[in-house]
Amino acid sequence: MVKPSGFKGNKQALPQKDCVVCGRAMSWRKSWAKNWDQVLYCSDRCRAAKSSVRSAGQGQA
Ligand SMILES: [Zn+2]
Repeated sequence: MVKPSGFKGNKQALPQKDCVVCGRAMSWRKSWAKNWDQVLYCSDRCRAAKSSVRSAGQGQA
C-alpha cells in the first residue's frame, strides 16, 4: 500500500504560502496552526509594512 503523500513527519509536506507583502514563501509554523488561513505576512515587519503599502486595486471600503 502506497500513501500518496504522507503529511505526518514529513517537513517538506508542510503547507506553504507566500507573504502578501514581500512575496517570500513562508513555511508552516506550529504557532500558526490555529490561524493558518489568516496568516498573510511572514513577519510582524511585513504586517506593519502592508499598512503603509496600500496596494491600489484592492478597494476595501
Ligand atoms: Zn513578508
